[in-house]
Amino acid sequence: MGDLRVRFAPSPTGYLHIGGARTALFNYLYTKRNGGKFVLRIEDTDVERTIEDSAEKMMESFKWLGLNWDEGPIVGGPASPYQQSQRQDLYSKYAQTLMDKGLAYRCYCTPEELEAEREQARLAKKAPRYSGRCRNLTQEQTREFENEGRKYAIRFVTPDQGNTVVNDLIHGEVSFQNEEIADFIIMKSDGLPTYNFACVIDDWLMGITHVLRADEHLSNTPRQMMIYRALPAPMPKFAHVPMILAPDRSKLSKRHGAQTVEEFRDKGYLPEAIVNYIALLGWTPPDATREIMSLEDMVEVFELSRVSSTAAVYDVQKLTWMNGQYIRQLEPEELVQKLIPFIESAGLATREELAPRKDWLIQAVITMQERARTLEDLAESMEFYFRPPGSYDEKGVKKHFAKPNVAGLLQKCTEVLSRMPDWSLEACEHAYTSLAQSEGIGRGKLIHPTRLALSGKTFGPGLFDIMYVLGRDETISRIGAAIQFINKLL
Ligand code: GLU
Repeated sequence: MGDLRVRFAPSPTGYLHIGGARTALFNYLYTKRNGGKFVLRIEDTDVERTIEDSAEKMMESFKWLGLNWDEGPIVGGPASPYQQSQRQDLYSKYAQTLMDKGLAYRCYCTPEELEAEREQARLAKKAPRYSGRCRNLTQEQTREFENEGRKYAIRFVTPDQGNTVVNDLIHGEVSFQNEEIADFIIMKSDGLPTYNFACVIDDWLMGITHVLRADEHLSNTPRQMMIYRALPAPMPKFAHVPMILAPDRSKLSKRHGAQTVEEFRDKGYLPEAIVNYIALLGWTPPDATREIMSLEDMVEVFELSRVSSTAAVYDVQKLTWMNGQYIRQLEPEELVQKLIPFIESAGLATREELAPRKDWLIQAVITMQERARTLEDLAESMEFYFRPPGSYDEKGVKKHFAKPNVAGLLQKCTEVLSRMPDWSLEACEHAYTSLAQSEGIGRGKLIHPTRLALSGKTFGPGLFDIMYVLGRDETISRIGAAIQFINKLL
């Protein structure tokens, strides 16, 4: 298979969360930067933790983010299959190879016996580790256990002395004492491989040259290195990507809000913004002042040497800010396309209702684009374009409505607006400027109450933009409704 080969190997035990997406992204960037192949492998041997549709959902999320894999499920490839549940024979075969070499053995210990061993260690205030007592069973002992009908797991013989040194591309040299690593299970009594074993067999057979994965796996790496040496198989290079922490530096969890790529998608984040933001969680581009970068831009400059070895802190506000930047860059037509599902789910209009009003929608969106943060947020804040305000902002009412002459001024506004020959932004503005002059008042005295009348809010797009988009009839009718409201107030 040759050349640089990198893989991302998620376990389908949930949806793709931000941390997983970031690890996948670093894999992707590293591969593309170095002209290699990006392999996707689904590690689904932990039957109990596997969630039915999660592999499919994860793959959807990868595609949505633009992280397309060169080999893996769906696309296939020379190392097929790419799903561990379909590679069972290989694990059994190589477990047998190790047993034949005396580098693995059957362990007949029952869960109760193992628990008793752990308990003893706890009492003696020692780290609980397997004693290795099945390592040298006699043929007779083995026969006895078999006759008892005991099930067996297969354990790997770990070296008793020395160190195993991981030469990590991010963390540098990390040394582990071999005596701390007990003979560990490579095949469980149900015949399924453990993660450490399946991972090595697959990385080896798939010709993986670089293993980039989450920090939490660093302590697994010496175990995996021992297996490579025992097979023997060429060792890939390892890099462990630091964790992502919540703003309070605790472990990121549900209570910190949206976690999965799907959730972010449903809240109206753009894939480009997510990819850009998560890349900067732990990676510093060579030009650190340049924050907005496309996937292609990042591929050009990505280096593992610029990935930090310490945890990154996640800040949803920064992500939201970045999302706003990406929304601003969209052509209004494109933004409208992306926005329609959100307008629909905000209950403002259906796709069918919007179809003949595309140009109108584009005009409306243009007035809001600069302030947008997420698509969901944008759609919801456009409500006033679709229906008259159900209520008026309370502070706004006190400040702009509850004054003796406001109803009269608004009445004059409707009169000048209905007399205008053309309905355009400039004409609306001109009408308000002239009216303010002839009344001898500042324009604000007309603009603020009108804005409240039209949108129910005290902030938002420029008033004349709003008027233009709403159209003359709607504008006059909403001002009329506000006049009635004010008359009841006073
Ligand atoms: N299936 C493992 C996980 O999801 C993969 C670890 C690895 O990349 O080796 O954590």
